[in-house]
Amino acid sequence: MPLYRPDNVDAPVLSQFSLKGKVAAVTGGARGIGLEVVRGLAEAGASVALIYTTSSSAPEIAAKIAKETGSQVSAYKADVTNKKEITDTINQIAKDFGKLDVCVANAGIASQVPGLEYSEDQWREIMSVNLDGAMYTAQAAGKIFERQGGSNSMIFTASVSALLVNIPQKQAAYNASKAALVHLAKSLAVEWTDFARVNCISPGFVETDILSIHPEEWRKKWFDMIPGARMAKAAELKSAYVFLASDACCYMTGANMVIDGGYTLP
Ligand code: NAD
Repeated sequence: MPLYRPDNVDAPVLSQFSLKGKVAAVTGGARGIGLEVVRGLAEAGASVALIYTTSSSAPEIAAKIAKETGSQVSAYKADVTNKKEITDTINQIAKDFGKLDVCVANAGIASQVPGLEYSEDQWREIMSVNLDGAMYTAQAAGKIFERQGGSNSMIFTASVSALLVNIPQKQAAYNASKAALVHLAKSLAVEWTDFARVNCISPGFVETDILSIHPEEWRKKWFDMIPGARMAKAAELKSAYVFLASDACCYMTGANMVIDGGYTLP
């Protein structure tokens, strides 16, 4: 089967960005980049399942976004490292909403350990969230996409750390997990052309809690290396996720969209 071509490719371009009638699920959706992705997808008209692990206020956050956007937004609790839990949750979302068109595997954690010193647990923790968890999320969504056919979109949040090594170092596990994630996305893109597009977004530095594990001096160093001379707010990324989720990019699959204020260019 060829890559799905929606019947609106000749329609005015802005109409192709609409997500009206689509259902999306987002992991790591209660804060940071994921929260803005949930908001962006809902603003574009999608019904959205916000998947969270720890935030007790996630249901209120979902209700607030629903009220602000007029879209249906509901919260679901699942740990992406637990294959059964995330699979059951994605299946439940598809059941509750009647289908699933878009899945964003965004949950992630960072590390700061010298390469020689990683314990088995420290290494596994990063890999299990950033890589295994993303794969479990994608597998669950992919099975639904395959059953449904049509215009489906899988999106992974990778990182510029998939492409280069930040200075100072001590992020080997994070870097390796994100590099693997980009290649996972490309592999699935080739396998899934019959039923889904699969793409990555690789942010540069974004002002979220994930950066707080790193010392201030590191953040200053990174900041000085961004040609755009500032970090991004999470809200500056949401339009890219809407684009990848929408029919506006129906011929794009296997891409890694870098959004980094020029950080990877010099
Ligand atoms: P964040 O710490 O605010 O968000 C991470 C989210 O992942 C949180 O909602 C957290 O609850 C969730 N999460 C962690 N472990 C989980 C688990 N086991 N199961 C389910 N959810 C889990 O940081 P963020 O910047 O919003 O990060 C979102 C994604 O963006 C991550 O994948 C991160 O690696 C990536 N990223 C961030 C930056 C940046 O500068 N902020 C840059 C590049 C990539």
